[in-house]
Amino acid sequence: MKSHAKVVVIGGGVVGCSVLFHLARHGWTDVVLLERDELTSGSTWHAAGGMHTINGDPNVAKLQKYTINLYKEIEELSGQATGVHLTGGVLLAATEARLDWLRGVVAKGRYLGIELEEISANEAAELMPLLDPKQFVGAVRNKEDGHLDPSGVTHAYAKAARKLGAEVERFTKVEDIVRRADGLWRVITNKGEVVAEHVVNAGGLWAREVGRMVGLELPVLAMEHMYLITEDMPEVAAWNAKTGTEIIHAVDFDGELYLRQERGGMLMGTYEKANKPWSEYQTPWNFGHELLAPDIDRIAPSLEVGFRHFPAFQNTGIKQIINGPFTFAPDGNPLVGPVRGLPGFWVACGVMAGFSQGGGVGLALSNWMIEGDPGADIWAMDVARYGDWATMAYTNAKVRENYSRRFSIRFPNEELPAGRPLKTTPVYDLLSAKGAQWGVAYGLEVPLWYAPEGVKDEFSWRRSSDFTQVAKEVATVRDGVGLSEISSFAKYNVTGESAAAWLDRMLACKLPKPGRMTLAPMLKEDGRLIGDFTLANLGKDGWFLAGSGIAEQYHMRWFEKHLPDDGSVRIEALGAKQTGLSIAGPKARDVLAKATRSDVSNAAFPFMAIGRMDIGMAPCLVGRVSYTGDLGYEMWVAPEYQRAAFQALMTAGEEFGIGLFGSRALNALRLEKNYGSWGREYRPIYGPLEAGLDRFVAYGKEADFIGKAAALAERKQGGKLRLRAFIVDADDADVIGDEPIWFGGAVRGWVTSGGYAHHSKKSVAVGYVPKEIADESDGFEIELLGKRHAARMQPAALFDANFERMRA
Ligand SMILES: Cc1cc2nc3c(=O)[nH]c(=O)nc-3n(C[C@H](O)[C@H](O)[C@H](O)COP(=O)(O)OP(=O)(O)OC[C@H]3O[C@@H](n4cnc5c(N)ncnc54)[C@H](O)[C@@H]3O)c2cc1C
Repeated sequence: MKSHAKVVVIGGGVVGCSVLFHLARHGWTDVVLLERDELTSGSTWHAAGGMHTINGDPNVAKLQKYTINLYKEIEELSGQATGVHLTGGVLLAATEARLDWLRGVVAKGRYLGIELEEISANEAAELMPLLDPKQFVGAVRNKEDGHLDPSGVTHAYAKAARKLGAEVERFTKVEDIVRRADGLWRVITNKGEVVAEHVVNAGGLWAREVGRMVGLELPVLAMEHMYLITEDMPEVAAWNAKTGTEIIHAVDFDGELYLRQERGGMLMGTYEKANKPWSEYQTPWNFGHELLAPDIDRIAPSLEVGFRHFPAFQNTGIKQIINGPFTFAPDGNPLVGPVRGLPGFWVACGVMAGFSQGGGVGLALSNWMIEGDPGADIWAMDVARYGDWATMAYTNAKVRENYSRRFSIRFPNEELPAGRPLKTTPVYDLLSAKGAQWGVAYGLEVPLWYAPEGVKDEFSWRRSSDFTQVAKEVATVRDGVGLSEISSFAKYNVTGESAAAWLDRMLACKLPKPGRMTLAPMLKEDGRLIGDFTLANLGKDGWFLAGSGIAEQYHMRWFEKHLPDDGSVRIEALGAKQTGLSIAGPKARDVLAKATRSDVSNAAFPFMAIGRMDIGMAPCLVGRVSYTGDLGYEMWVAPEYQRAAFQALMTAGEEFGIGLFGSRALNALRLEKNYGSWGREYRPIYGPLEAGLDRFVAYGKEADFIGKAAALAERKQGGKLRLRAFIVDADDADVIGDEPIWFGGAVRGWVTSGGYAHHSKKSVAVGYVPKEIADESDGFEIELLGKRHAARMQPAALFDANFERMRA
């Protein structure tokens, strides 16, 4: 075994081998994979080997497509058969709601280049002869479904990597990992030590234990999973003989089942409701090529449905039931990327669909390590989407929920209950008493809307029970004054003698003067966005940044990577140390003036001013800015004072008719101002010009901010896309996000977000289209629930396009 390597990959399952292959293919060949046993000694060997392109997140779906297309290449390069059978498949809907969901999947496929086709239940039965069409209302055909040989694929990755110069050490168990003073990692094994610049935790079933070696508690948990294999079936033999082809894959969402042919019989797997975690606290090191005891009672309810939906199963015997564990993150997507606070330590774990996702994970990780960027939008898999709040108990609750809902529909207005409430702010019970319906962001409960007694969310793809109430909340703001809780923003303090110079380099905007704020895009070296913030200059108190709450860990990882070593800049994520309230609407100043003794007149405290003032008895930092696009204020307050500030504002607001509004009303308000948000309109694949944030980029400023050269080039060349708002000729449903935008009979763009703008009484969609058609006003269509709706470009904000209300 070599004593030094550029990268050590821990784990020889399908994911570790893919990472090794991709590093070597990308030109890093001084890389070694350490496996404690034979390759495939975790989940990989007993997998059902199914692969598919569909994923709830379109960016993950793209990487799944990449993975499936990769098998040919690694087979050729390695000479190792991967056993790929690209049979195609059908996705089955037994209810109309499921068919609506599938139509959304077909629509997304259009701009992802994934060919999906809606077919009738009878057409599905012609393709997959075992199903009873009377049990289904419709289906979708996917030509890119199939299965493979899990061991063959893993060895093909490893052999191809070795051919490119990488090394694989089997029977080499990593027992400890220690960071040296010079930043290199000592990877200590039962056979000696390797010193490496980078370490990748691809430990699969033991990823948690490998994480603990460096003090990390990763949010992953293994679940038991069962599939059965039948005896040979005459129906299968007859179909094979008649058509010369295998029986294709089927996913029966309402039965929570997947099926495929396995030799002369069938394989049927299920994600059962009564699921069971495995090794909740500690994975035994002596576990390897064993299987777990099957528990047919646990999966019996699903099998009953399966045997009804696929009647031929009633006449066949079960040859074998496989029960094996594999790991999940709380939301079911992988955990990939560099870990904040541990330079050179990477994770590639929690991969629950290794044969659909392993290639994409390897590609993204190798790009990230070598080029400094994953090369794709992989937010949905980024390990930084979780923070310390994702504790072991939280993970346990969420993983179990996710497993049991693997094939369930999640409606756009549906909030999942497990692991909640976890983080709450001091006004939580006050807002609950007013009817707050809660959602969650980065583990924190956030008020979505306020329901009258006896009303709650009815889950639907269409406008639902909250519609009239959200309209009232919007009217409260636009006609008078509303109050909302905004603690879910991420807040940062930046201090130190070099803070200003550092921010000037990190952020693309011009730095504001003391007592002023500005919008602050943050770019990567490639000139694309990596953040958008409000930056405030607090004078002698340093700088304050507010940004997307879900991206706190993501942004801190970026900030810390770029901090100078000399301690001249300090940045702190304030998290729950700073809570927030906001008031907005034409009467907002009247309320504030009544609640504080400070002068908040327009002359003394104009738009984009910031300063400290007491609200009632509570000391607050108040900024004159509002995401509602109205006259408004954001107030930042230590949690111990939040209730006092809240009460003071509500009491002062009484005579002005103050009411509460939640994040759904805020969405309706910001849409009519064409305001985008991080994670939707602003993501790391768009440049500031494309995203319409170029007006906040100080291209000419002296500081050489990160991404400056690339941003200048984008401005010169014009980029490729443009973010645009559209008014949709909708019926009873509005866009959610990820719908295709049609123009001239073809899909040319995609929706990032939208909804109903209640004040303007318009259904609004926001999305990206190629710049060549970005100035057309008509001819667009947006596909909603399987139907194309005319959409008109809306260049100016629907509300207060001249910013008169905000600046009044
Ligand atoms: C019953 C079942 C059916 C499944 N069906 C499918 C399917 O149809 N399609 C699909 O895509 N996925 C399926 N999966 C999931 C799939 O198996 C996993 O996504 C995949 O195997 C994860 O691979 P991995 O490399 O991350 O982890 P693992 O396969 O667990 O590999 C981790 C490796 O790391 C090694 N290791 C750990 N710690 C150390 C250490 N300290 N030192 C050295 N080596 C170490 C282990 O020995 C192991 O070989 C199924 C899983 C099960 C259990």
